Amino acid sequence: MSGADVNLLLRSTRVVTPEGTRPAAVAVAGGTIDAVLPYETEVPAGVRMEDFGDDVLLPGLVDTHVHVNDPGRTEWEGFWTATRAAAAGGITTLLDMPLNSLPPTTTVGHLRTKQQVAATRAHIDTGFWGGAIPANVKDLRPLYEAGVFGFKCFLSPSGVEEFPELDQEQLARSMAEIAGFGGLLIVHAEDPHHLAAAPQRSGPAYADFLASRPRDAENTAIEGLIAHAARLNARIHVLHLSSSDALPLIAAAKRDGVRVTVESCPHFLTLTAEEVPDGATEFKCCPPIREAANQDALWGGLADGTIDCIVSDHSPCTTDLKTPDFASAWGGISSLQLGLPAVWTEARRRGHALDDVVRWMSAAPAALAGLARKGAIEAGRDADFAVLAPDETFTVDPAELFHRNQVTAYAGKTLHGVVKSTWLRGRRIAADGVFTEPTGRLLERDH
Ligand SMILES: [Zn+2]
Repeated sequence: MSGADVNLLLRSTRVVTPEGTRPAAVAVAGGTIDAVLPYETEVPAGVRMEDFGDDVLLPGLVDTHVHVNDPGRTEWEGFWTATRAAAAGGITTLLDMPLNSLPPTTTVGHLRTKQQVAATRAHIDTGFWGGAIPANVKDLRPLYEAGVFGFKCFLSPSGVEEFPELDQEQLARSMAEIAGFGGLLIVHAEDPHHLAAAPQRSGPAYADFLASRPRDAENTAIEGLIAHAARLNARIHVLHLSSSDALPLIAAAKRDGVRVTVESCPHFLTLTAEEVPDGATEFKCCPPIREAANQDALWGGLADGTIDCIVSDHSPCTTDLKTPDFASAWGGISSLQLGLPAVWTEARRRGHALDDVVRWMSAAPAALAGLARKGAIEAGRDADFAVLAPDETFTVDPAELFHRNQVTAYAGKTLHGVVKSTWLRGRRIAADGVFTEPTGRLLERDH
């Protein structure tokens, strides 16, 4: 142990480190990881020891895609409830999306309003994305300097009128502005013309909804984005990739040196169109959950590195907005608390190790956002952990979820991986459905 200030030693036969999983003892000093030591390390006098046995110690997950909706649509979700659900699910850092709250995060003043609301309610560390809308090009640089991690935009209607989409000309202008100060543009990539041309049938049939959000809409939007990014040497990130048809063009762009990263989500990787019951709009999101063969290809994209990370896109609403009509129901899937077990259950079935899941759900999203203190168990990082019993199973009961509206597409599923406890900067913040008072910090870029 290097420092005399070490006050905590966390021991497990399975500690997930960047070099692999091994028995180790993690020394913590002042909320920071001081060293990763041999398992047999003797416990010095005055140091508290927590021994997790064979439960796995992994770095706290980093979820860079969460819609907290607070303030403004707090009946949908809020910082208190969302961050408790996240903590219960092993997440220790989240980045909030700029829309669905009122105000949206499109000016520095709006960012300050949101930070103020989050400050006393966040159980985990919380940062903010800014929004790029047609009217706020002049606000982008001040927002960046005020600490947002990058900017989200839509290319098709977002679903809320206060957050309009960018047309191609506006996209190019915003992307050029953001590239000018070295920022990151994250994009909901569905092309509005392809959506408008698709058959729009209302009703309870999932097949009709799926046909209304075709793969072409994603593929075309991503192709256009990549062309803009290549021309402007801009850094872009494709949000919630669903269409596996876009994988080859993303892989080619990466090979060509275009600065593009990609995320997918637990629902695209663990649920299929074939299993969605008619009228079950808790499965509705945009882009949509597609067929099983598409899901297989997405896993291929994860395995070969074309897809960088897995984040929740937790986007809840009140129960009454989930009407049985797919056309009018609010789109969004709630999965903060369930992302890790959902993804782990499918990953292990497909022969992946827990190390892979940790890379996709902690290290890679931390790298995406430039969170240098998050995403790994190694000296110098924040002492953020999840303790997971990877072989234990549970059946999802909506009544046991901590987000505000207990709607879930995972109800009744039996999943592998029980989160036993979650630790933020060396303090246990959640265990067995019991939480400490909120100790999450507000994160800013260059945190
Ligand atoms: Zn989203």
